[in-house]
Amino acid sequence: MNDLRIPIRIFGAKIKNKQKLLSSQSGGAFTAVAETFLKSNAVIYGCGMDENLNAVYMRITDPEELGKIQGSKYVQARLKNAYQDIQKDLDEGKTVLFSGTPCYANAVKRYFKNHRFYKNLYTVDLICHGVPSPKVYHAYLKYLEKKQNSPVRSFVFRDKTCQGGGWHKHIEKVTYADDTVAYEEGYTKLFYTNLPLRPSCGTCRFSCMSRTGDFTVGDYWGVEQIFPEFHDDQGVSLIFLNTKRAAEMFPYIRPALETVECREEQAAVQPNLKQPSYIPKCRKRFWNDFHKKGIAYCIRHWSTAGGLSFRIRRKVMKLLKLW
Ligand SMILES: Cc1cc2nc3c(=O)[nH]c(=O)nc-3n(C[C@H](O)[C@H](O)[C@H](O)COP(=O)(O)OP(=O)(O)OC[C@H]3O[C@@H](n4cnc5c(N)ncnc54)[C@H](O)[C@@H]3O)c2cc1C
Ligand code: SF4
Repeated sequence: MNDLRIPIRIFGAKIKNKQKLLSSQSGGAFTAVAETFLKSNAVIYGCGMDENLNAVYMRITDPEELGKIQGSKYVQARLKNAYQDIQKDLDEGKTVLFSGTPCYANAVKRYFKNHRFYKNLYTVDLICHGVPSPKVYHAYLKYLEKKQNSPVRSFVFRDKTCQGGGWHKHIEKVTYADDTVAYEEGYTKLFYTNLPLRPSCGTCRFSCMSRTGDFTVGDYWGVEQIFPEFHDDQGVSLIFLNTKRAAEMFPYIRPALETVECREEQAAVQPNLKQPSYIPKCRKRFWNDFHKKGIAYCIRHWSTAGGLSFRIRRKVMKLLKLW
């Protein structure tokens, strides 16, 4: 089933409101889209964190609550009751904007394809590197809690605000119940090895320029070379308008953003717009170690947190085609 489309127009974008830019993962393009939909009483679905720090899709109708689904949670999110809630919203003739990974956005579209109000369902998909298993993420939270001897109250996967941080850095912000705030990198270092990613992410059919959503949002990595005057260390988004109706809505979204229009080749700098992430061959060995030796061992042994010895081992494994 080929239901993917080449973008009609592509922009680099930054939300003008500085507070919203800081709480967004890249340039806040998603917030500008969602706020425009909320103004016309639409319902937004996106990924937030529940009280147990699970990444879950949640339903938002109040602009004050949009903050809950801003920012990237680098873990597979649960849909929970999203299908039932979307069904109810569409039955009532409401406009729905679903935002998430392309595979979930596509699944939602396919599920409601025959609904009489299907035309009221809009989707935003992300440029997507892949999602780690929640098992690894929760084991990491437990590891942090043990280290600090206090429960984790909030976890920001990629914090822009810490000293030496900003959009380019990938630093985790952990707030504990005892009010301590710490900055960590262990989970991130494991994420970028691709070892904890879902196997399906390695063969993802959405890792290309053709898109499933009405809109696509992502990080505009490389903007400093392509449009140096547009670069901002607090983040720049890419936003693709993939359907006629998205292009028609954009004049209502655009006033909240600073924008620069791009040609396709100026946007196609993201690896995951060209091909799926590579899942190392030694993934099984990583999982054996995870189950038998635990997360702390895996961070030391299987990520750049292990320093030079890990890098040498990985190089050798690559030479022997074991990575
Ligand atoms: C797992 C993951 C991998 C990503 N990989 C890349 C990449 O390789 N290249 C790239 O350019 N961009 C990637 N992104 C997207 C990027 O990090 C930003 O989410 C995107 O640029 C939107 O940022 P924003 O500033 O417009 O808005 P924000 O307000 O930061 O966007 C939040 C949006 O992200 C969604 N979201 C957050 N976490 C999840 C999740 N776990 N599952 C589903 N949806 C989620 C929310 O529903 C909301 O739509 C990834 C995001 C995630 C969650
Ligand atoms: S990489 Fe593909 S399969 Fe994996 S979460 Fe992203 S869209 Fe889904």
